[in-house]
Amino acid sequence: MTSPTRVLVFNSGSSSLKYQLLDMRDSSRLAVGLVERIGEQTSRVEHTRTGGGNRERTGPIADHDAALKAVAEELARDGLGLDSPELAAIGHRVVHGGMFFTEPTVVDDEVLTEIERLIPVAPLHNPANLTGIRTARALRPDLPQVAVFDTAFHTTMPEPAARYAIDPKIADRHRIRRYGFHGTSHAYVSRRTARLLGKDPSEVNVIVLHLGNGASASAVEKGRCVDTSMGLTPLEGLVMGTRSGDLDPAVIFHLARVGDMSMDEIDTLLNKRSGLFGLCGDNDMREIRRRIDEGDEEAALAFDIYIHRIKKYIGAYYAVLGTVDAVAFTAGVGENAAPVREAAVAGLEGMGLAVDPERNAVRGGGPRLISPESARVAVAVVPTDEELEIATQTYALVGKNN
Ligand code: ADP
Repeated sequence: MTSPTRVLVFNSGSSSLKYQLLDMRDSSRLAVGLVERIGEQTSRVEHTRTGGGNRERTGPIADHDAALKAVAEELARDGLGLDSPELAAIGHRVVHGGMFFTEPTVVDDEVLTEIERLIPVAPLHNPANLTGIRTARALRPDLPQVAVFDTAFHTTMPEPAARYAIDPKIADRHRIRRYGFHGTSHAYVSRRTARLLGKDPSEVNVIVLHLGNGASASAVEKGRCVDTSMGLTPLEGLVMGTRSGDLDPAVIFHLARVGDMSMDEIDTLLNKRSGLFGLCGDNDMREIRRRIDEGDEEAALAFDIYIHRIKKYIGAYYAVLGTVDAVAFTAGVGENAAPVREAAVAGLEGMGLAVDPERNAVRGGGPRLISPESARVAVAVVPTDEELEIATQTYALVGKNN
């Protein structure tokens, strides 16, 4: 019998479950879909069989266990069910792998226990990821389940970058350090950027700006992450859709003491009601640009604060790396919002950074350079593909055993 070549990828968010079935012979997608609004009355399943059309249904789906079973049913209807002998493995995105998981890992009971132990530092994500793995395991107990961690790429960070300046005994007791997130994307994009330059990842230094609804920057030296902007949790760093990013920790004491807010209220404020949304009431960059075009000053200030923070991180990571070969923009905003890329790099000519307006205006397409021909540092748009990266890592781990 020929070896199985398909990998199913699950990416569970706090209230969503995205999935893709890939054939690793050519990395093609056989099916893609998502379940959203899990836990509500109006949960929605959207399933697309490549070349075979689209199905959609709405109705209550109580939790991630039910969501994954709904996905299994959709796949089975297309003859792509979890019982297929062509399935080599299931790859699961796991948000927090702490210090323990530095690589993709085949799941066993011990691995599940360790992911569970990390729930206090990833309360929104790790429980959903765990349920996804447990349900998939129950449906196909014989199939390798691989956990691919968002934090893994960042575990190469040296201690001076990863440690906060607090008592190490307290930090260690509570596992407080910079872990970083979006690692699968930073890994994929930094490598893809090297290829765009015609180089091996070990030959280049790249600053990756992952600007989605969540946003993070990383400094990648010769293929290894040496610093990243998210910290113990995904709250630190850049201004995001609804998260504040960096702020003086004393703001929290102040809000508790003077603003009379509870810890939960402050948590919600900083994670869900801050960032672009908190500043101007919108977290979608398209809407913010539209308002700016109409002369809206609140939206313009939100945009400027967002850009100022990105610029600070470009400067900081330039200093961390010493020399920079490329700055790569990725994710929803980074890939689509030309004005963000232009503004983030404006005025940095002294650092060798510039954007060519015509190249920057090109929409869509694959990885591309947007810096002028003569630029000292390449500026690139590199669409991220976390599902492909998870599938590739999963297949690399289990493929050799088949
Ligand atoms: P996440 O995976 O963090 O939810 P994405 O990487 O999908 O986020 O990015 C979503 C964000 O991308 C949207 O909130 C919006 O701000 C931005 N975005 C998407 N398309 C465009 C576009 N054409 N122009 C500007 N911004 C866009």
